[in-house]
Parts: sequence; structure tokens; C-alpha cells
Amino acid sequence: MNLGAPERILVLAPHTDDGEFGAGASIARWTTQGREVYYVAFSACQTSVPDGWPEDVLISEVKRATGELGIPLARLRVLEFEVRMFARDRQDLLQSMVELNEELTPDLVLMPTVGDLHQDHHTVATEALRAFKQTSILSYEMPWNNIAFSTQCFVHLFEEDVEAKIRALACYESQASRHYSDPDYVRAQIRFRGTQIGVKQAEAFEVVRWVVR
Ligand SMILES: [Zn+2]
Repeated sequence: MNLGAPERILVLAPHTDDGEFGAGASIARWTTQGREVYYVAFSACQTSVPDGWPEDVLISEVKRATGELGIPLARLRVLEFEVRMFARDRQDLLQSMVELNEELTPDLVLMPTVGDLHQDHHTVATEALRAFKQTSILSYEMPWNNIAFSTQCFVHLFEEDVEAKIRALACYESQASRHYSDPDYVRAQIRFRGTQIGVKQAEAFEVVRWVVR
């Protein structure tokens, strides 16, 4: 099916790694298909890097991780918002998104769900609704931050996409203690969502808006 299939996709990641967690395998699918995928991380969380790691470790990790998903370095941006302070900086965040929209004119934007419990994720989602008012938007799933999530859209994945997501998450060596980056967990979530549409592997998304041009 090719109903308004997007060609230029913008992934909004509040922090480095959110895009990989929420949509990593779908991103790998889309870059394999030759679609243009841009990845914007709004913070590299310099103030909350674990002890013993350089302050900018997440910048080098996100470069490697998005590379594993097939995103060229020229399509990666890492902005300098302060972690956990996005609500305070809401207007600047909105302005940066308005500029991204003018520059990149994406036909699909990926973001966290508005109901995401993390304050920065929630702020990115609500500001993105304003900045990308005329664009298709899908929200990605982060079950550890979601109370409710509506599975209105599924991306059917192949094994190579799932392996790319697992490789991408493994690039975040400074964050390795998180149980949800475990490959068993990543595979379980993908298998679970695949089962809902009768395939082995899928990622699920909420449809915020779908524009067919
Ligand atoms: Zn995050």
C-alpha cells in the first residue's frame, strides 16, 4: 500500500536515543527503502551523564547509533537544550521546530506521544503539534513512559531492521544499565506488536494526523 507514503521524515528525539527506542527499526526500514530521514535530538543531556563518562559522550553515541539505522551524519542534528528543563524553554523549543519545518519541509514527523510521562518528552510532543500543524504526525511508543498508547499504525519490519535497532541501542554504552535496551526486551516488544497485525515483527505508532497529498 502506498497511500501518501512519506518521502522526507523528521524524527524528533527529546534526548539522544529516544528516536532509536521509539522507532529505530522503522527508521532502518525507511532508510533501506531510500527515504530521507532526518534525526533531531534536542539535548545530549550533558548535565546528567553518568560519572566516569565525558560530558559529550551522548553526542558521539548518537552519531554511531543513527549511522547504524542508515541516517547519514549530515541528517543528524544535536541541539543544546538542557535536560529536564524543556518546559521552561518551551518557546525556544517551538522556535527551533518552526525553523526545522521551514528548512526541511518534512512530510512525516515522528514524536513522543503527548501522554508521555517524561516532562521533556511531553513538552516536545505538545510543541510539535504547534510547529507541524499541516504535516502527518506519528507518535512513537515508549512503554516505560506511557500509561495509555493507541496502536493505530503499524510498520511491518524485517529481521535486518530489528538487528539494526539492537545495534543502534548498543551504541549507548554510557546508558547500558537500562533494562529496556536489553535485546530480549526490544525483540519482545516488536514481536508483541507484530502479533497484533499477524506478522512476526512490527513497531506501533499513534496516528496524530495523516495527510494524503
Ligand atoms: Zn528521553
